[in-house]
Amino acid sequence: MASTKILNSVKNLFDKESPQTAKRRFKIRNWLSIIFAIAIFIILAVAFMRLMPAWMAETISAVIVVSIYFTFLNNRAIKIRCPNTECDGIIKSNTPWKCGNPKCHKDNEKADVFSFVDRCEHCETEQKAYKCHHCGEIIYFSEDKSKSLCATFVTNVVRKKSVPKKIADEIETIRKTEHELKKAKLNLELKIIKDELEPKKEKTHEEILRESVKDFKDRNMSGARIYAELMAENARIFKDDPDERERQDLLVKMWAQNNFDNLVQKKPRSDERGCE
Ligand SMILES: [Zn+2]
Ligand SMILES: [Zn+2]
Repeated sequence: MASTKILNSVKNLFDKESPQTAKRRFKIRNWLSIIFAIAIFIILAVAFMRLMPAWMAETISAVIVVSIYFTFLNNRAIKIRCPNTECDGIIKSNTPWKCGNPKCHKDNEKADVFSFVDRCEHCETEQKAYKCHHCGEIIYFSEDKSKSLCATFVTNVVRKKSVPKKIADEIETIRKTEHELKKAKLNLELKIIKDELEPKKEKTHEEILRESVKDFKDRNMSGARIYAELMAENARIFKDDPDERERQDLLVKMWAQNNFDNLVQKKPRSDERGCE
């Protein structure tokens, strides 16, 4: 029985994705890396000794092993797999996280050393669970399934909070404007292509006449309306200054004569003679 238990423990230790063994795997990862590096050193040194003097073989092997150790093995991340079968996501121990201790709740950025599977850099509290950043499932690190100290992911949204609100608003406005501009350009291009592809439909006599009367009415009505508005504005503003009001009224009349009449005269139409 004892041998089966030891065998299961060793097997669990090398189960590379189980949340239950994560704490142990994290704690011994550097020791395992050192043992692995020593093994590599011995193999390399023995191989090189056949080709060169012992001191040279040992020096070259040491340089290679030290390089490998500090590049790949030192503080290497371990993996855990989310137990939610619909998620099945892999989470690495060097993921930035927020402490689950209610009195701390601080972010842990140096997750290579202070991982959520171990303890917080700030309050040194050991975490009991982690909320999966793929699906939100609680991943427990022990069989007691305690949620009391549950670490969470440091989201980009949290980091964005450091951007001042004014700048964030401006960025959002620029993004929306860019979107509108792109949309308008695309619509224009689409219209040009459609116009080129579709033959222009000849207007009927009725459509031409309707357009003509609309233009005529719009030009005359709007001119008269603007004239009336300007005169009313003069009456209001210069009610206590008759001389100035007279001068301003004269200017409006001159404008009406020079612009409105010209506008009518510029486009003489046979069907509008009655209003000229
Ligand atoms: Zn903490
Ligand atoms: Zn998950």
